[in-house]
Amino acid sequence: MRRISIFGATGSIGQNTIDLIGREASSYEVVALTGGSNIRQLANDAKRLGAKVAVTAFNEKLDDLREALAGSPVEAAAGPAALIEAAARPADWVMSAIVGSAGLAPGIEVLRQGGTLALANKETLVCAGQLVLDTAARHGARLLPVDSEHSAVFQALVGEDMNAVERIIITASGGAFRDWPVESLASATVEQASSHPNWDMGQRITIDSASMFNKALELIETKEFFGIDPSRIEVVVHPESIVHALVGFCDGAVMAHLGAPDMRHAIGYALHWPERQDLPVPRLDLAKLGQLRFRDPDPDRYPALRLAREVMERGGLSGAVFNAAKERALDHFIGRRIGFLDMTDAVAAVLDRFEGADGLIDASLTLDNVRKTDHLARQWVDDAVLRRAG
Ligand code: NAD
Ligand code: MG
Repeated sequence: MRRISIFGATGSIGQNTIDLIGREASSYEVVALTGGSNIRQLANDAKRLGAKVAVTAFNEKLDDLREALAGSPVEAAAGPAALIEAAARPADWVMSAIVGSAGLAPGIEVLRQGGTLALANKETLVCAGQLVLDTAARHGARLLPVDSEHSAVFQALVGEDMNAVERIIITASGGAFRDWPVESLASATVEQASSHPNWDMGQRITIDSASMFNKALELIETKEFFGIDPSRIEVVVHPESIVHALVGFCDGAVMAHLGAPDMRHAIGYALHWPERQDLPVPRLDLAKLGQLRFRDPDPDRYPALRLAREVMERGGLSGAVFNAAKERALDHFIGRRIGFLDMTDAVAAVLDRFEGADGLIDASLTLDNVRKTDHLARQWVDDAVLRRAG
């Protein structure tokens, strides 16, 4: 029996993970499931899978969760401290699928326990890459990528020597607005940004795909995960979302990873790694697909990619600034307080302000400094939005 926990169990990645383990439930002992406001889903899954504990991230939801679990042996808990406590419980495999920087602290705790962390939460590496890698190394913990591009690179690298890698190419669908005239982007609505051409994902990552903030985070994630110089990471727009990533080697060979756009591929690979097992995902029919297209990302359409390159150059806490500013700008876009293009402007302004505020926060990469930076960057986005409104 493998002991497993799922952080962010009620979300898109969490539910896909539950779908996979639910198919062979007798092989798994579920330790912890966590969620947010969707208490009914969390409680139902926890009861069905016989979890030891169910945790909602929000303290005010504890009574609802207790009520939903009444009469079952599942423990109920709530709040950020309860998430850390759940992360400290022994488990053989833990899925990190909380959305946003809230996923960082529980992930670090899993690594401190020497566990295996399947990382869907890209923000963990964006905000605190070196800290995360050092923590994993110190405690003999293992990180497995779940983001589809990073899982694809990881698979293309099996048996290869990193010294022979010339470049890594990650693909991007181009998101909801890839074929819109650039002039129309300023008036794009939340609803328009929330529909993805190929993938069925949570709302936040779907909007981040339209703005390419998602790919921007993934550029940084690639640099951190594979320890490769940013100049050797490329992004190519691939509207079909069939090729997830490619690795180019020093002899000119390029290994590509192909698969249907279904996250159960990457989740299942991390779940069964280092083996492969049958997965309930659609099989590719290349003849039916007919063609796979590729093009360079238009820098005017996707300025977030340029910002990510700046962040990689600056290093240190700028990843935490970038991510937090992006998360807060996204909150304001979803709240209809700013427009689609204002998100990139807000993030760029906050990055510059942080660069100019040398010494405001101790530059060493600790969890505490990342938290302070995250808080400050959100505050600065709020200031900018308020100023515009006033
Ligand atoms: P989602 O919005 O569908 O689910 C997010 C989960 O996090 C939910 O369980 C929610 O309750 C929980 N949550 C929200 N706020 C929280 C907080 N403050 N504290 C603790 N928990 C909180 O998101 P998703 O699409 O499943 O994405 C999860 C992560 O995986 C993100 O980092 C995303 O970038 C990454 N990812 C997602 C996909 C995808 O296909 N959905 C693909 C690659 C990577
Ligand atoms: Mg991805």
